[in-house]
Amino acid sequence: MPEGDTVWRACKRLDQALGGQELLRTDFRVPSLATTDLSGRTVLEVVARGKHLLMRLSGGVTIHSHLRLEGSWHLYRPGERWHGGAEHQIRAVLETSPWTAVGYRLPVLELVATDREDTVVGHLGPDLLSPSFDRATAIANIEADPERTISEALLDQRNLAGIGNFYRVEVCFLLGLHPWRPVKTVDVPAAVDLSRRLMKANLRNATQVSTGVNRPGQRTWVFERGGKPCRRCGTTILTGQLGEPTRERVTHWCPVCQPEVAPDSRPDTASN
Ligand SMILES: [Zn+2]
Repeated sequence: MPEGDTVWRACKRLDQALGGQELLRTDFRVPSLATTDLSGRTVLEVVARGKHLLMRLSGGVTIHSHLRLEGSWHLYRPGERWHGGAEHQIRAVLETSPWTAVGYRLPVLELVATDREDTVVGHLGPDLLSPSFDRATAIANIEADPERTISEALLDQRNLAGIGNFYRVEVCFLLGLHPWRPVKTVDVPAAVDLSRRLMKANLRNATQVSTGVNRPGQRTWVFERGGKPCRRCGTTILTGQLGEPTRERVTHWCPVCQPEVAPDSRPDTASN
């Protein structure tokens, strides 16, 4: 599933391939853009904002897309066979002389004036992968809702932009946090700093790694390892759903390494 670092890598590839090139042909296969022709414009740059892709063109136009769970952009040389999906899954074709970019299954694809990009990404919190990441604001945004679960707070792109399910699940494990722990019991700066460190470390990897071991079956601590033994203590990893109706709600955790109550705090009411 695309997260901030995945989108960042996709943008970098698109930027290197298309940046400075003139669009020779464009073909948008969504109803709202069916008659749009952007040929003749130059691709200025392709940048990531959280999990959003912004392709900035000459003339003050930006192509905004979001991959969500299923979308992807592919790059092909002239004459190369396209293999990103079925023909009917193609949403956009951007042809330049050296490369053609093909967008498959893009759930969000629209044009926005470049000076009005805020209307599509302005709701996002500080971008974890931005060199000017506003750490204090990100922490304050999360701490503003102390009763919320840390899982939901980390996924909420209005708090901070870029974290998806992989980092949410792995950060909770690495900090020994049960995913349902309320924000008020969590060291929020540590969670923010670790998320950023892991994402930045993965910018050069083709796949996401949190264990430091980039080999199949060894890349994650608990993410997508439900039913398997914890790498640290051997306990069976559990799988559960977050309460809010979001498409990224499946979570995994080790019941021993990630206790429901902070080890140094006492529950308010008596329990077993
Ligand atoms: Zn464990």
